[in-house]
Amino acid sequence: MEKLAAVKGMNDILPPDSARWEALEERVRNLMRRFAYENLRTPIVEPTALFVRGLGEVTDIVEKEMYSFEDRLNGEALTLRPENTAGVVRAAIEHSLLYNGGKRLYYMGPMFRHERPQRGRYRQFHQIGAEALGFSGGEVDAELILMAHALWQEIGLTDVALQLNSLGQPEERNAHRAALIQHFEAHLDVLDEEAKRRLHLNPLRLLDSKNPAMQAVIEAAPRLLDFLGEASKRHLKTVTDVLEANGVAYSINPRLVRGMDYYNLTVFEFVTTKLGSQGTICAGGRYDYLFEQVGGKPTPAVGWAMGIERVLELLKEQGAAEDGPALDAYAVVPDAAFLPQVMGCLQTLRSQGLSVQMHATTAEGMASMKSQFKRADSSGARYALIFGADEMAQGQVTVKALRDSTVAQQTRALSEAAQWGKSLQSIA
Ligand code: ATP
Ligand code: MG
Repeated sequence: MEKLAAVKGMNDILPPDSARWEALEERVRNLMRRFAYENLRTPIVEPTALFVRGLGEVTDIVEKEMYSFEDRLNGEALTLRPENTAGVVRAAIEHSLLYNGGKRLYYMGPMFRHERPQRGRYRQFHQIGAEALGFSGGEVDAELILMAHALWQEIGLTDVALQLNSLGQPEERNAHRAALIQHFEAHLDVLDEEAKRRLHLNPLRLLDSKNPAMQAVIEAAPRLLDFLGEASKRHLKTVTDVLEANGVAYSINPRLVRGMDYYNLTVFEFVTTKLGSQGTICAGGRYDYLFEQVGGKPTPAVGWAMGIERVLELLKEQGAAEDGPALDAYAVVPDAAFLPQVMGCLQTLRSQGLSVQMHATTAEGMASMKSQFKRADSSGARYALIFGADEMAQGQVTVKALRDSTVAQQTRALSEAAQWGKSLQSIA
């Protein structure tokens, strides 16, 4: 039969790599708890209109990257979420999450974009995102940045730089937009087809273009920063004051515009030079107009999303990748007849918090002691528990350290597993 394979650009995450994913996710949950962000889980499928209205019709995601389909029964237009900010906002409106003031939320999960797969760019990828809804002050923008910064420190990421910009407010953007159109119209000869098409629809998107031929003209384009009024400048200063007071280095990048239309005021990216052109590991900003855009009341909000694949790739690049916790013990059982009693003992050990793996029978019964010991060794377990016939006859088990030859072999009573089990545990 023809072999089936995963869909192009969508990856299986296999052990032991999956342990690194779990370790990162666990650190993030802990971080979110300390910053008082609560978990929100929304569906992977949303109405297509949510993204068209939320992200903007003339954006890469909506124009060419969405996995959209019709519900086969009622024809409803649906899309696999390409990002989750719009979904979080939809849920916040739908469930009146802000009836009682602001809400700090986070999520983790798969996102889907029909892009050309390459290192750090996949069709199913995974994001961790944090969103602070209902807060207008720049100090919350800064809090989110401090939180991401704290995560880099805790997981040992060093090669990452923070870029910051302000996209101002709609009136400021309109004035800038007119200047942008004028600028690019004077350089029509270097614009590619996509840029020409977008010029009057969404000229800000031209700044986001990665076309090398256009970079000089983009570089020379009028800067949105120069169109900011007093209030917008003050907002940016609130953010940078907090960063400076906390020793978080940043640079202002006036070309930073981000790929969705929903942003205003603060935008930022954490960027590394170590992942080629997929160098942005975390990106976000303020989106004070998104709630209205998808049918809610005006609500200030700010957030970020990080790409888990890119963060883990960068950690690996730096040699700082975390391994999962080692197995505590491997049960070597020469005779299958002992299994009911052995498994009772293993249950007790597991209830003490130990991770324990048991050698299982095959069609031929139990493997030889020699091959079981080989397995125990390659499992990475710190101890072998040997449930031999002699031991079992006396209600005992032999505990043998596999990684530390200075630890003497010991015999323990099965009935006292709840007492000695703890001493074998590597993590609390
Ligand atoms: P890029 O400019 O690299 O396409 P983006 O601006 O489209 O990124 P966002 O929509 O801001 O990315 O998503 C936030 C983060 O999610 C990115 O910084 C990146 O780490 C990650 N990300 C985005 N698209 C992908 C993808 N196709 N594969 C893997 N990670 C991705
Ligand atoms: Mg993109």
